[in-house]
Amino acid sequence: MKHAFEEMNVHGTTVSVRHKEHIDEIDALIIPGGESSTISKILTKSGMFDAIVQRVKDNTLPIMGTCAGCVLLAKKIVENKDDLESLHAMDIEVERNAFGRQKESFEKIIEIKGFSKPYHAVFIRAPVIKKVWGTCEILAEVDKKIVAARQKKFLAFSFHPELTDDIRLHQYFLEMFI
Ligand code: GLN
Repeated sequence: MKHAFEEMNVHGTTVSVRHKEHIDEIDALIIPGGESSTISKILTKSGMFDAIVQRVKDNTLPIMGTCAGCVLLAKKIVENKDDLESLHAMDIEVERNAFGRQKESFEKIIEIKGFSKPYHAVFIRAPVIKKVWGTCEILAEVDKKIVAARQKKFLAFSFHPELTDDIRLHQYFLEMFI
């Protein structure tokens, strides 16, 4: 994100969001990869969950969710065995670990809507967006599986944009709120 600030000449700082007070102070939020059920529990325990949900309702917090973050943005989760509590921000249905065992992690050159050049995407035990509805827009697919979507000021990616030097998706996110 820092590179995107520099590249776009934006005066911005990044903070690691750890307390619910942080949620009121930030202009935008990135929910990273990890284990979505664990992240959800941490968010709930720390009080951040309700603070984020409130700002989602008020439509004042742009969010980019990558991998586990994508799961957390979804309104629906396929076979939600862990009873994972998501933020219900986007009209998407997500299936966790949907690329199966032998393909748990892989890299793929994909096309992203609006990008003139292909994008190198890194998938790690990635979810798939099974369905989008409402005003949600599909931004990218791999073998007919949706891996990137946008709705209002929310972006969901089933891959990891932070693991490559390509900052175009961070720039795209930044452009949504500067
Ligand atoms: N499989 C994880 C989950 O469903 C996501 C993996 C990741 O973020 N790299 O929470």
